[in-house]
Amino acid sequence: MNVVEIYKGWCKKCGICVAFCPRDVLAIGDDGYPTAKNAEACTGCGWCELRCPDFAIVVQKDERTKDS
Ligand code: SF4
Ligand code: SF4
Repeated sequence: MNVVEIYKGWCKKCGICVAFCPRDVLAIGDDGYPTAKNAEACTGCGWCELRCPDFAIVVQKDERTKDS
């Protein structure tokens, strides 16, 4: 499974990553930071990482699906 990591020290809680995820993987958590509430649906497309203006989100693609 792909893993989405949020670096809270850099995240400014803008919600851009949540808005751009085409699979509805991300949601704003109770603390205001994005969280991967639906991680199984992540395709590893990298849009969230690409759109984050603060480099605060990183997608680690599952090695088993990396080339698919
Ligand atoms: S990599 Fe793509 S599918 Fe996965 S959380 Fe980011 S935008 Fe959503
Ligand atoms: S786009 Fe980046 S800064 Fe904005 S909420 Fe997502 S991780 Fe945080």
